[in-house]
Amino acid sequence: MKITEHIAKAKKQTQFTFEILPPLKGQNINSLFEAIDLLMDFNPPFIDVTYHREEHVYKEVGKGLLEKKIIRKRPGTVGICAAIQSKYNVDAVPHILCGGFSKEDTENFLIDLDFLGIDNLVALRGDAVKTETYFTPTEDGHRYANELVEQITALNQGVYLDEELLNSHATDFCIGVSGYPEKHMEAPSLASDLHFLKKKIKAGADYVVTQMFFDNQKFFEFVDLARAEGIDVPIIPGLKPLSTLKQLNMIPHRFHVDLPETLIKEVIRCKDNTAVRQVGVEWCIEQSKELKAAGVPFLHYYSMGKADNIKAIAAQVF
Ligand code: FAD
Repeated sequence: MKITEHIAKAKKQTQFTFEILPPLKGQNINSLFEAIDLLMDFNPPFIDVTYHREEHVYKEVGKGLLEKKIIRKRPGTVGICAAIQSKYNVDAVPHILCGGFSKEDTENFLIDLDFLGIDNLVALRGDAVKTETYFTPTEDGHRYANELVEQITALNQGVYLDEELLNSHATDFCIGVSGYPEKHMEAPSLASDLHFLKKKIKAGADYVVTQMFFDNQKFFEFVDLARAEGIDVPIIPGLKPLSTLKQLNMIPHRFHVDLPETLIKEVIRCKDNTAVRQVGVEWCIEQSKELKAAGVPFLHYYSMGKADNIKAIAAQVF
């Protein structure tokens, strides 16, 4: 079922959903299933699975020489989605990127999803590879997520890259895109970022999922600004509980979001990560309750492989 249909079916009840990462290459899928098992009691209508593009690494090959290798540390997004749909009978939502994909690769990826009965996805640009400062599109690939959305929308109308294909099958994907309550790191302003968010909606996106935030006010203001811009699709808040002291610096650095002063002070007072985790869980419960009271369609949790704290939160909220 499509995400938009899940929203209609829930009749304004907020539902629990979450995102998982594919395991690192070399691990099996069982640890992932164990994490999902912990959260199934809260009846998620869908589970998102992130996509991880290639990385460029340099390996020493002797005599001071380095060899450039292209590796993917977390492959398996599509396989995991298919496994989730068959094991749990829950919709799996793969993320799909511009980065690392030509348009042809994208089309073939979409065909795989369609054949597997996966009819939801989140379309993203992706970040620059670690060895680059700025995002560079793949040759004959997309530069921005709105272009990727356009390609998916075209396929939904039966338009393939090879225009000579006749009587071609139209896919029926429900398309999610990202939104940034504190603006995307490269955007010169929130207004500019919202302008381009609208472009993704005009291109055919059906809903928005936000970057994590720790101050609900930022989410509420973002929704108001988006509505004023004419963005009328559902906006799903993304939440992540803090769980380690290290994240106090890592989260603002990596995700370009601010942490409220009160939260920072509470975390600094903690003696160890067990205490930080508790602070993070309690903060996220408060955020979740306020968002639920405001009538958001889903609370979408970034589990990042740690399901136990998400379970502790969900138990208090759902
Ligand atoms: P875009 O929407 O393309 O925007 C990128 C920047 O360009 C923004 O600053 C925007 O304002 C600007 N812009 C957009 N369109 C145009 C245009 N036409 N002309 C000029 N400027 C433009 N990354 C992963 O690698 N894998 C994942 O699974 C993943 N999942 C994510 C899930 C969510 C909910 C979120 C919020 C992020 C996720 N990311 C993921 C991270 C994401 O790939 C990065 O934040 C990336 O830098 C931007 O992707 P985007 O789709 O938001 O880009």
